[in-house]
Amino acid sequence: MLKDKDRIFPNIYGFEDVSLAGARKRGVWDGTKELMAKGREWMVNEVKESGLRGRGGAGFSTGMKWSFMPKEVGERPHFLVVNADEGEPGTCKDREILRNEPHMMVEGALLASFAMAANASYIYIRGEFYRETEVLQRAIDEAYEAGLIGKNACGSGWDFDFIIHRGMGAYICGEEGALIQSLEGKKGQPRMKPPFPANVGLYGCPTTVNNVESIAVTPDIMRRGASWFSGLGRPNNTGTKLFAVSGHVNAPCVVEEEMGIPLKELIEKHAGGVRGGWDNLMAVIPGGCSTPNITKPECDTVLMDFDSLKEVKTGLGTAAVIVMDKSTDIVRAIARLSSFYAHESCGQCTPCREGTGWMARMMRRMTKGDAAIEEIDLLEEVTRQVEGHTICALGDAAAWPIQGLIRNFRPEIERRINEYNGA
Ligand code: SF4
Repeated sequence: MLKDKDRIFPNIYGFEDVSLAGARKRGVWDGTKELMAKGREWMVNEVKESGLRGRGGAGFSTGMKWSFMPKEVGERPHFLVVNADEGEPGTCKDREILRNEPHMMVEGALLASFAMAANASYIYIRGEFYRETEVLQRAIDEAYEAGLIGKNACGSGWDFDFIIHRGMGAYICGEEGALIQSLEGKKGQPRMKPPFPANVGLYGCPTTVNNVESIAVTPDIMRRGASWFSGLGRPNNTGTKLFAVSGHVNAPCVVEEEMGIPLKELIEKHAGGVRGGWDNLMAVIPGGCSTPNITKPECDTVLMDFDSLKEVKTGLGTAAVIVMDKSTDIVRAIARLSSFYAHESCGQCTPCREGTGWMARMMRRMTKGDAAIEEIDLLEEVTRQVEGHTICALGDAAAWPIQGLIRNFRPEIERRINEYNGA
């Protein structure tokens, strides 16, 4: 279990003062100028060495991503864009940072921007996070007034502006290309890559898009050192992580824990256990609703990190754990997710536009059993044709939950079909 001294987010529950004075008491903005004085290369290396992997879902090395930015500023300015468009069902961790630890966010944005030679950073916040936006704006105002950001930020000689942009509710704007498009005032649709944002991003300029949690943890990594962070968790899966546990548990929660904590321990210790006891567990979606479900025998032993979850054919994603007990209509639950993805498809590419709608309609029939047994294989085949054949990962996100359902609960689908057809 994570020791209190290793906690990065001491105020994640908002019990303490969120203002600048309160944040300073917790060590935020401590020695920021000195960190900047160590230079860009040192900062990027420190984050690289820490092993931090992006907390938005894909799990790519954050330090590596930073290093893709041009070393010197040419004719085009550099930008950092923080992705706070947290909109996936089950995922609710970034909002806790925004409303309870906003200064960690602002300090992180300054340091990350400086490390990538960006004088401005935009944070794209999900429109529904109205109160969170207010809290963050207050923190930004406080930071400007105290000279921590703005001209000569923290007395470092570096100018830095941090601007909030509110989204309008489209899930796809959480995808970095669509987010950039939306920020530019265009229709929020993913862009083809290459070119990658580090080369051609916001307004055609070098840009890095990072998740809220990834940015908020970087000041602590720089202050306490890469080796402290990489000493937590397991190799290739380092540090601490915010886990959000929801669904059929006695005490749904967002909790900071060490990477690699056993899933069972996470649910039993922090979320009050499964409703009706551990043996009443049917399945868990471990990383936000796009990741395939895993069944109880896998949940008994799996560790909550990128590599362990990959071994059981799912993923850590955003670490949003959705727990389903035996009362769950699992086919209907996955059908609901299929409808969500069909609704949120931006319609730009054919396999996703047509495929998500087709899969959702098929899943609705499967819920009732109004299908033929052979159609299970057909459905599986269609998910494979969508997966990996689209511009962005929404196609994969729509395919994976169905693949998990067929892999783990095929007898249940067959039972319904047989029952419906009177077999
Ligand atoms: Fe749009 Fe779907 Fe294609 Fe992504 S995969 S670009 S959401 S149509």
